[in-house]
Amino acid sequence: MNDIFRLAPRMPTCMSVSPGSKRWLNLQEYQSKKLMQESGVTVQRFYVADNPPDALQAAKRLNAKEIVLKAQILAGGRGKGVFNSGLKGGVHLTKDPSVVGELASKMLGYSLTTKQTPKEGVEVKMVMVAEALDITRETYFAILMDRACNGPVMVGSPQGGMDIEEVADKSPELIFKEVIDIFEGVRDDQALRMAANLGFKGPLERQAADQIMRLYDLFLKVDATQVEVNPLGETPEGQVVCFDAKISFDDNAEFRQKAVFALDDMSESDPTETEAAKWDLKYIGLDGNIACFVNGAGLAMATCDIIDLHGGKPANFLDLGGGVKEKQVYEAFKLLTADPKVEAILVNIFGGIVNCAIIANGITKACRELELKVPLVVRLEGTNVQEAKRILSESGLPIVAANDLDDAAKKAVAAITRK
Ligand code: ADP
Ligand code: MG
Repeated sequence: MNDIFRLAPRMPTCMSVSPGSKRWLNLQEYQSKKLMQESGVTVQRFYVADNPPDALQAAKRLNAKEIVLKAQILAGGRGKGVFNSGLKGGVHLTKDPSVVGELASKMLGYSLTTKQTPKEGVEVKMVMVAEALDITRETYFAILMDRACNGPVMVGSPQGGMDIEEVADKSPELIFKEVIDIFEGVRDDQALRMAANLGFKGPLERQAADQIMRLYDLFLKVDATQVEVNPLGETPEGQVVCFDAKISFDDNAEFRQKAVFALDDMSESDPTETEAAKWDLKYIGLDGNIACFVNGAGLAMATCDIIDLHGGKPANFLDLGGGVKEKQVYEAFKLLTADPKVEAILVNIFGGIVNCAIIANGITKACRELELKVPLVVRLEGTNVQEAKRILSESGLPIVAANDLDDAAKKAVAAITRK
């Protein structure tokens, strides 16, 4: 989650951004800043390092008056975060390059907890070593795809920086919005108005408006769902600079954004979700003991609810999606059964596009080859269901057939209670 999603509850007219059934790709700050540089957006000079000696070297090489060392994780709020090494702050400023190695050694390999990470934090594998600049003022600026506006919107505040959530909470009048016409793009007068609302004065207003337009060009070019800069700051030398960067990308554009998607290192993704994605499956881990194998996110929700209603708890759900192949069914079972929490499996497939016979063949193959040890309850409905039922019943496998979802949930819960 990033700053703007935290603003969401306070900004209902504009912020109803839904990530849909997939999760948007997020990149690390340094990767986003490279893309910004390529679009002519102003960022500070920087290097990245994955070990303390390299960080120290980079600090010396920068030859800057002041250096900023920044832990690279996908969550925001790093400035006010804490490491499990005891170090406070995921963003450190120093005038002495020789301390950068030491500081980096308290960041790399440790977990950083911020208000946007899970409690246990996120492991830092990379640091950014950048030229620090004095910041006279910090503003907030973002462009995001917004469902309520049917297109992109700019959001900004003259009071950006680390307390933007508080600004949105206590002074919503300081949050400004401009709806962008997707055909026309950002108009000059809009960019200038936003720059003025952000509090840029004199020549800085034009400079900020140019940065805004370049950020919009980038937003379009990379098929972003969001470009967020907090802070977009001004320096005493009269420069408008993007000091932080967070870009999210539309996963549906992967086919034409190959270079961007190749940057995804998956380092902060759940390994089971990543493995599932390889097979075009969506996996969500939960805390119970009944694995759910379904097609469609809506059916997944319904299945979880009905299990709950009958006193059970889902361990996970795996969404098979549309055009299913037997191999995917097999891989799906492999993932579900690899979870030691799983004590029963509930298959709930409603075959519209899906051919139930393919599912049935996949299930029987998986049961045999994986030597399934937990009870399996299957409810199939829809296209080719008679054939599917025949395959299952003639398999000789101990598969419990269910008539409908309610029946399936009851049987799955009972299978566990009986054990
Ligand atoms: P986060 O949003 O995760 O806390 P930021 O990159 O916004 O991380 O950094 C936090 C704060 O550190 C910024 O609001 C800014 O005050 C300061 N900062 C970040 N980059 C620089 C820089 N290059 N020069 C000076 N100060 C910086
Ligand atoms: Mg920030």
